[in-house]
Amino acid sequence: MAEDPRNWEPETQAVRGGLMRTPHGEISEALFLTQSFAYDSAQAADDRFAGGPGFIYQRFGNPTTQMFEDRLALMEGAEQCKSTASGMAAVQLSLMGLLRAGDHLVAGRALFGSCRWIISEWLPRFGVETTYVDATDLEAWKNAVRPNTRVFLVESPANPLLEVTAIGAVADIAHAAGAKLVVDNVFATPIFQKPLELGADIVVYSATKHIDGQGRVLGGAILGSNELMNQAYKDMHRHTGPALSPFNAWVLLKGLETLDLRVRRQTETAGRVADAIAAHSRAKQTIYPGRPDHPQAALIANQMTGGGNVIAFDLGDRASAWRFLDALQIVDISNNLGDAKSMATHPCTTTHRSMPEAERLEIGLTEGWVRMSVGLEGAGDLVRDVTRALDRA
Ligand SMILES: *Cc1c(COP(=O)(O)O)cnc(C)c1O
Repeated sequence: MAEDPRNWEPETQAVRGGLMRTPHGEISEALFLTQSFAYDSAQAADDRFAGGPGFIYQRFGNPTTQMFEDRLALMEGAEQCKSTASGMAAVQLSLMGLLRAGDHLVAGRALFGSCRWIISEWLPRFGVETTYVDATDLEAWKNAVRPNTRVFLVESPANPLLEVTAIGAVADIAHAAGAKLVVDNVFATPIFQKPLELGADIVVYSATKHIDGQGRVLGGAILGSNELMNQAYKDMHRHTGPALSPFNAWVLLKGLETLDLRVRRQTETAGRVADAIAAHSRAKQTIYPGRPDHPQAALIANQMTGGGNVIAFDLGDRASAWRFLDALQIVDISNNLGDAKSMATHPCTTTHRSMPEAERLEIGLTEGWVRMSVGLEGAGDLVRDVTRALDRA
């Protein structure tokens, strides 16, 4: 009997999952830079267009993007994955495929900035209304439900202050209301959190972050059951054109091979850096999902198997936060995350600057907060760099 890749250990899935070799027997996955595919006969073309096996056109699928999708689906424990050109294309598609005019969405209020734009500015043009809730408050989710609620959207841990949502409990509330739960799992990565197992219907990723992990390409993915993926996204993905480039898919496919190693090392180092920040007198508050003093540590122990690589800490005011950033010698000032290179940013003036102040205050984001993504540098060097910058903050 042939091995079923679904039974492999995650490390094996990351390296061998989805592998589709050509007759050359190449060891590294082949990069198919081709838009179209030729058919052996008119009959063969007819068969493929009728839905038979084989590729037709890059916008619909390509062997390299397919390998990336199959590998990520295995790692996530999903029946199907659709890749997209960016994380935002994935988020947009994940919502537009499930919603239509007259529907209602409930969303956690702490979200990536562009996700908030889609919800606040874009969906209303198509007649979709949204209620934002404090995602940590289960009563708030329940109270937000209306007869026309179709989708719940949450990011957990959320950007930038790393609050965590009880995914299973929120999935139950969604399902009781006849709605689907979409989880943006970027911060946890497929290594530390499996939203589908916890009860979510759809998982979305910005593959730009940890899945690439070396700062090169954009990419995104949507994962779920065959039934829901086919019904909600298949035609939309084909016809609206958010397809991932095969070149980027190839980079991301190689990224998946080392995702587990990288994320675990980054997390180990992040634990040391977070402890150093928390122990420093300049940090008024330090939030890291891997520390026992995270406000939701019990919930994290329940649904995540690691704290991840992002730390948030409050230095009291903007001037102190900026002095900290300007004193860093190794860590870059940059707004990305999940990279091999450590980076830190001041969310109020960068990633969250378009969020109205009142809404920022609702999620507790004041001017003293810094968000740091821990990379793959030596932990000793990072602790020294961060400690020196805190001394000068
Ligand atoms: C970066 C990010 C996105 C958007 O991804 P892009 O690849 O930049 O389009 C969406 N959600 C979260 C949580 C992110 O961090």
